[in-house]
Amino acid sequence: MDLKGKLEILADAAKYDASCASSGGAKRDSSDRKGIGSSGGSGICHSYTPDGRCVSLLKILLTNACIYDCLYCINRSSSHVRRARFSVEEVVRLTLGFYKRNYIEGLFLSSGIIKSPDYTMEELIRVARTLREEHHFRGYIHLKVIPNADPLLVEEAGRWADRVSVNIELPKPESLERLAPRKEIGAIRRSMGRLRSTIEEAPRSKGRPFAPAGQSTQMIVGADGADDAAILGTSVSLYSGYKLKRVYYSAFSPIPDASAGLPAKPAPLVRENRLYQADWLLRFYGFALDEIVAGGDAGMLSLDMDPKLAWALKHRERFPLDVNRASREELLRVPGLGVRNVDRILVSRRVRSLRTDDLARLKISLRKVSPFLVLPDHRPTQLLDRADLAARLRPGPAQLDLFG
Ligand code: SF4
Repeated sequence: MDLKGKLEILADAAKYDASCASSGGAKRDSSDRKGIGSSGGSGICHSYTPDGRCVSLLKILLTNACIYDCLYCINRSSSHVRRARFSVEEVVRLTLGFYKRNYIEGLFLSSGIIKSPDYTMEELIRVARTLREEHHFRGYIHLKVIPNADPLLVEEAGRWADRVSVNIELPKPESLERLAPRKEIGAIRRSMGRLRSTIEEAPRSKGRPFAPAGQSTQMIVGADGADDAAILGTSVSLYSGYKLKRVYYSAFSPIPDASAGLPAKPAPLVRENRLYQADWLLRFYGFALDEIVAGGDAGMLSLDMDPKLAWALKHRERFPLDVNRASREELLRVPGLGVRNVDRILVSRRVRSLRTDDLARLKISLRKVSPFLVLPDHRPTQLLDRADLAARLRPGPAQLDLFG
């Protein structure tokens, strides 16, 4: 098979991995004059960096021929897909070629398991090491870490990569056991723990930083019966236990030739979206898990509205808030106000009392925030009591002006 044929197969096979977006990566040493490229502090497959740049990565597998048989995976050993395998040299050549033509700003490399976890990890490392050492490549590299690989190999992966990720795959250990019998939750968590301690302990002054963009993971949503409370509970434990930069959620979609042990229908994409919104609330908005989603029968997020609006409508007694007096923590709970908006409000109100015009100037959607805020020229006395408030606040074609 020629390189183009392999690329078609192995880029397509990689699209199922969502754990590929970056933030917070430090620039590599720019004193290396022979080096080519720059990771620019972050970058990933058609994603936006914190500074607003859209960056792209070559996102491929080394091979889609895997000796494991995870039921949810198109590359599993019992699948009938066409198989291909790049050599290390081919991936290096492709990466450099695309990079020099400005098609990409880095590489995301994962793989099916070839022979053994150690062998696979060694091959992935060889790609990154060759790019860095022989070609002085300073672009972004995200390497997949294979659980059960030797701890020294896991550590070496982080020496060459900007970001590393070990996929947790499923929210519950029993689901992993059922759907991915050769994967072990213990091995996955051990690899995450090792990465966390090496990232924290690596003395940055001694040469190459260790995985400066940290570690991430991916969880498949809707392949098992786990509800949103279980999924978010697992995320909370991963963020706190392993200091992950991100948990990525990937809505399950039936694969060709699927196992009977999997749902026949895809998980709704809006569910994936709601999980991202909830994840954000947990990390940046001061919400606790049980405020966003309860356990038991109430363990699912609303698909109709975002979780912050759902919380606010259940707690109308906490509103309206005076935009000129409320604390940062209180303002962060107002639907329609993001972290950046809240910080701008706090700065602006030091100078003068804010009015509706000021919010509009800060590009805050008055339609969304008006029921929840008091301003000198706005007092939403009856808005919060309206039975149709939820309907009015949901995004839709016919938006009514609540300021009227
Ligand atoms: S280890 Fe499992 S999830 Fe990974 S490529 Fe192989 S079959 Fe797919």
